[in-house]
Amino acid sequence: MAKQKPPVKKNQTIDLSFVDLTHDGSGVGKIDGYPLFVPYGLPGETAKVKVVKVNKNFGFGKLIELKEVSEDRVEPPCDVYVQCGGCQLQHMSYDLQLEMKRKQVETSLKKIGHIEGVPVHPTIGMDDPWRYRNKVQIPVAERHGELITGFYQKRSHHIIEGMDRCVITSEINDRMVEAVRRMADRLNISAYDEEKHRGVLRHIMVRTGQATNETMIVLITRTEELPHQEELVKEISETYPQVKSIIQNVNKERTNVILGRKTKVLWGSEYIYDNIGDIKFAISAKSFYQVNPPQTKKLYDKALEYADLKGGETVIDAYCGIGTISLFLAQKAKKVYGVEIVPEAISDAKANARLNHIDNAEFYVGEAEKVMPWWTAQGLRPDVIVVDPPRKGCDEELLKAMIAMKPKRIVYVSCNPSTLARDLRVLEDGGYVTKQVQPVDMFPQTGHVECISQLVLKND
Ligand code: SAH
Repeated sequence: MAKQKPPVKKNQTIDLSFVDLTHDGSGVGKIDGYPLFVPYGLPGETAKVKVVKVNKNFGFGKLIELKEVSEDRVEPPCDVYVQCGGCQLQHMSYDLQLEMKRKQVETSLKKIGHIEGVPVHPTIGMDDPWRYRNKVQIPVAERHGELITGFYQKRSHHIIEGMDRCVITSEINDRMVEAVRRMADRLNISAYDEEKHRGVLRHIMVRTGQATNETMIVLITRTEELPHQEELVKEISETYPQVKSIIQNVNKERTNVILGRKTKVLWGSEYIYDNIGDIKFAISAKSFYQVNPPQTKKLYDKALEYADLKGGETVIDAYCGIGTISLFLAQKAKKVYGVEIVPEAISDAKANARLNHIDNAEFYVGEAEKVMPWWTAQGLRPDVIVVDPPRKGCDEELLKAMIAMKPKRIVYVSCNPSTLARDLRVLEDGGYVTKQVQPVDMFPQTGHVECISQLVLKND
């Protein structure tokens, strides 16, 4: 069958009504069935749109002028929302953001996993979906003879000028970045110049424990030496009593990766602490730690609920990181085995178990897809398996190993509905039924979707 030519041309201006949203929050409108994706368009709205790209089966447009405005449109509070691109949903009411995320999970399950009729519950949101991030890493540059900090403009390495706050970062972190920038500027510490690979200060990272209010400052430098280090450390530590740790991280490479291998404690402790629920975590400069602790608590409580532990169970937590979920589970299980690929994360997990006097959790370094079959061979038969893989989802070998282990329940925590749907299909074909799915909004104002699923063994 001959395909019809697209009904629009590049640079043409058209009137378009939006009927849907893409997974990243763009508006979708159709001309004779041909979809156009337009950033910042909302369902129910009509707008004048300029066509900017025409592909065979879909195109892209730019919003020129709104003609009918949705009730869900809100004024983005950030002055650099469009330039920055770090957030994608600030123009949308929070209710619509939550519903969009729920629908995205439902659509992925249906289209990719051919899973229908499973309840996808309303997304658990935040009461106040702003200022939630407990960590900020911000690039430093020099402009007009002064040190500046700010996020990069979308698709560039050009720092946005005059950016003095980020509305999803905690205020304390915003203030600390500004304070360190001012001090470093006064001490004439040079900024790193990416093009020439010269200068010293590359990034300022600040992380604050939300429950403890302890702050860690990490100064990421190109050089081993940090000029005026003593004055800088003295001024920060004497001015800001909540700062418990000042760290230097050295990154000598020409790279987009922010942290280098080497970290030195310049002042104070190697760790800061934070609590999630009743569990205390020691967090070092390089540890992965969830950026939104109150939502993390809700996510982990759901994981516990879905694991449905009575006290006698053996549980595996695959992709366990610093043991956050494992330690939560250990409070209710007989024994928890955690596996994770990053050795530093496993030493943190072990330290965190000791810190909380938890002695029924064991942690192993390795690829989960290799360790799980080995555990099976050793005769380990878990009652429940929890997985929390990165965006690419579970390795096929890991899915096979899970099916072979025949746990009564599987709890799947996912930050990518597409790979989740793909993996649930495999697990369903292997004898499991998806009972329910709960999206939890870990990253308000952005397009990121996190959710948790409960599966049970069919003939159990
Ligand atoms: N459950 C943890 C971490 C989840 S992030 C938490 O909530 O904090 C996913 C983790 O999977 C990361 O720590 C990453 O290092 C780890 N990982 C990635 N590939 C892996 C693999 N093949 N085997 C085991 N762990 C892996």
